[in-house]
Amino acid sequence: MAENDDTPRTRKPLGLKRSVDAGEVKQTFSHGRTNKVAVEVKRRRKLVKPGEKGAETPAPEAAPEAAPAPAPAPAPAPAPEAKKPAPKAPAGETPQERVARLQREAEEERLKMAEDARKREEKKSKEAAADEKKRAEENRKAEAEAAKQAELDAKDAANAAAAEEAEAVAAQEPATDEAPAAGKNAPVARKFTPVARPEPKRPAKKEEKKARTTERPDKRRGGKLTVTKALNEDEGRRARSLAALKRAREREKRAQGGGSSKPREKQIRDVVVPEAITVGELAKRMGEKGAELVKALFQMDMMVTVNQTIDADTAELLVEEFGHNVERVSADDVEINVEEDKDPEETLKPRPPVVTIMGHVDHGKTSLLDALRGANVVKGEAGGITQHIGSYQVKTKDKQTITFLDTPGHAAFTEMRQRGANVTDIVVLVVAADDGIMPQTIEAIKHTKASGVPMIVAINKIDKPEANAQKIRERLLEHEVIVEAMSGDVQDVEISAKEGTNLDELLEKIALQAELLELKANPDRAADATVIEAQLDKGRGPVATVLVTRGTLKRGDVFVVGTESGKVRAVVNDQGKQIKEAGPSMPVEVLGLGGVPMSGDKLTVVENEARAREVAEYRQEKATEKRTALAPTSFDTMFNNLQADVVEFPLLVKADVQGSVEAINTALHNLSNDDIKVRVLHAGVGAITESDVTLAAASGAPIIGFNVRPNAKARDLIKRDGVEMKYFDVIYHLTDEISKEMIGELGPLKVENVLGRAEVKEVFKSGKKDKAAGLLVTEGVIRKGLFARLTRDDVIVSATTIASLRRFKDDVDEVRTGLECGVVLEDTNDVQPGDSLEVFEIEEKERTL
Ligand code: GDP
Ligand code: MG
Repeated sequence: MAENDDTPRTRKPLGLKRSVDAGEVKQTFSHGRTNKVAVEVKRRRKLVKPGEKGAETPAPEAAPEAAPAPAPAPAPAPAPEAKKPAPKAPAGETPQERVARLQREAEEERLKMAEDARKREEKKSKEAAADEKKRAEENRKAEAEAAKQAELDAKDAANAAAAEEAEAVAAQEPATDEAPAAGKNAPVARKFTPVARPEPKRPAKKEEKKARTTERPDKRRGGKLTVTKALNEDEGRRARSLAALKRAREREKRAQGGGSSKPREKQIRDVVVPEAITVGELAKRMGEKGAELVKALFQMDMMVTVNQTIDADTAELLVEEFGHNVERVSADDVEINVEEDKDPEETLKPRPPVVTIMGHVDHGKTSLLDALRGANVVKGEAGGITQHIGSYQVKTKDKQTITFLDTPGHAAFTEMRQRGANVTDIVVLVVAADDGIMPQTIEAIKHTKASGVPMIVAINKIDKPEANAQKIRERLLEHEVIVEAMSGDVQDVEISAKEGTNLDELLEKIALQAELLELKANPDRAADATVIEAQLDKGRGPVATVLVTRGTLKRGDVFVVGTESGKVRAVVNDQGKQIKEAGPSMPVEVLGLGGVPMSGDKLTVVENEARAREVAEYRQEKATEKRTALAPTSFDTMFNNLQADVVEFPLLVKADVQGSVEAINTALHNLSNDDIKVRVLHAGVGAITESDVTLAAASGAPIIGFNVRPNAKARDLIKRDGVEMKYFDVIYHLTDEISKEMIGELGPLKVENVLGRAEVKEVFKSGKKDKAAGLLVTEGVIRKGLFARLTRDDVIVSATTIASLRRFKDDVDEVRTGLECGVVLEDTNDVQPGDSLEVFEIEEKERTL
């Protein structure tokens, strides 16, 4: 508090003087309590005033203040004396004027020095291409030094004046504790005055400020610390921000003016400009600040943020604007051009045909593939319908190899084709002889014809008494499929997938067709392949099932696939065995990908990892560009939709594998018509998560879980937010229900009531074939006969029912929370410790709208 008293004292005289001279009364008064504040105010004004007449008037004011300052500098004792002279100084005109003059001179000197320092700085920076920050720091240091020197000069000058004044006015106050305080105040004032008055030049100000801040800490000690400290800090902050402002202005000046701009342009960079880039990334490549780019763009009438993407032309303009060199990257420079890279005829060798089996649901596609492969795939499938794109190789009696793709129908086939992945050489159209030509049969015919791929008709289920193969042949004519028996060129064969009838004949016909096609590829080169299916495997990471289109894929190969790159860690064949390499037309699983690609993506083996990354990055940029380019379009369609009164049906889709996601996406898309459009807000692989639920809740959209369940947290949110959930394990059921919902043909509302949950603790044999699961009931109750869903990492392993329930070898009807029990699940033995079991009943309710 004592300090406060002191400060006002010293201040008041100063303030009065000022007010008289400059008419700044109000400000001085209001700030009168603290020295520093007053100083700052002056500074600010000076900044503005220099240009005006003010320069002259302030000078005299400053002079008196300056005068006292010099005194303290030489020795602590004189300081008190100096203070008093200051007030008196105004009275004595000559000393004042002299001081003013001297100070002005000192100021000029300082400015010169500062300028010199700056020039030196610039030279330095020219030589060394240092970061902006470093330069700025150096600048600051140099300026500070200059300021110190300037100050010393000023002090000398001021000292002279002070000495005279001191002589004239006797020092009455003894130098005590207070003295230092006065000293502190005095120096501050001194410094300021010179700076402010002389000229508006920024460098000078900087110096002064720094000098001030540096000096003060030393001088200030004792009880006054709190107030002074606070002030100091405040000042330091302001000084810094002011300095920043100055630097910014200098920068602007440099940008406009000639000479000073050179130091900047030293760091001319070759900036690679892709077809689309975010402002932030471009700034990084240019070594500029994002904000500067945004500003420049703003001046070009483009309102963008640092995170937004701009096109190559805009980016190029910016790069040039900032004086860098543009290195534009085009697809030709980076992208792998598979088309141009043709294999010479002599390198080509015959390769197995790739066959896709298509047909209406339940006509026996999986059964056929199964029969051909001699394995039993149908049983494990949910609803007996093929869900994932699998792929296998089969050998004919003549040791010829045929590759089969098992697809979830024409949707995947079309999807792949749309993505330019024409991997299928031959289509086998399965038609059940007891069912005839069905809608999906017709669609399959259309898609096959559109693709130009030859077709072989397999008339299935001829073991059935009601089978009528001839009728099928006739009906096919209506769809312009003319089989050989009808004097056409489409091969057909009557089979029974169930009994294995005529399967060899089918294979022979496929081989014959393949021969006609003269399918060839060069096996002795770096591999190209097409992704058929990809997923994120918990244990193995991203896994892709690919079909080698040419060359030989080997372990250790570096590749790029879609927007991902990777290195082959393992090649796994259709029997799940690790192999060293895979040649043309071989379907294999590839491990070692950087991420999950999309089905239809091309895998290309490249020279090295750098190249792989380059291509992957380029493609990622392209993808970003595509997304941003799509945005306005979708906006347009949104408005169009509004105008056309199109109702949108929003959905969220989560499925167990990418193939299902795509199949569902396409299937849902096909449900759209002129009046109602399915809008898939989000579709992805994996368990239903909190973010899915949040999105669904926000958009009032139901979540479709395909072979996946929500995790625990998501489950809570679903309950809390009342989000609608639909689970399916058969795509056909899914589309069926959604299409019904879309046209308003809503059947009774089926509500699942989950009654209990349990954890599988152990698995043991039960009877000859079956497995029983030892459970711990964690929630609710488990009852015999209830529907049950077995999940592993939130992915549904099987949908079944509780076939039997036991507790200590006794059959029981129900088991409650906290108890252990043993269950046998209907139709499945795929149970593992750690799996979760959810039991539920389905209640049908009347819909209320
Ligand atoms: P997908 O939907 O086309 O894959 O058809 P699936 O292969 O799942 O077969 C559907 C149903 O038809 C299953 O119950 C099969 O057992 C049955 N099925 C398939 N092929 C034959 C056959 O040649 N004869 C008879 N009788 N049934 C068959
Ligand atoms: Mg099937």
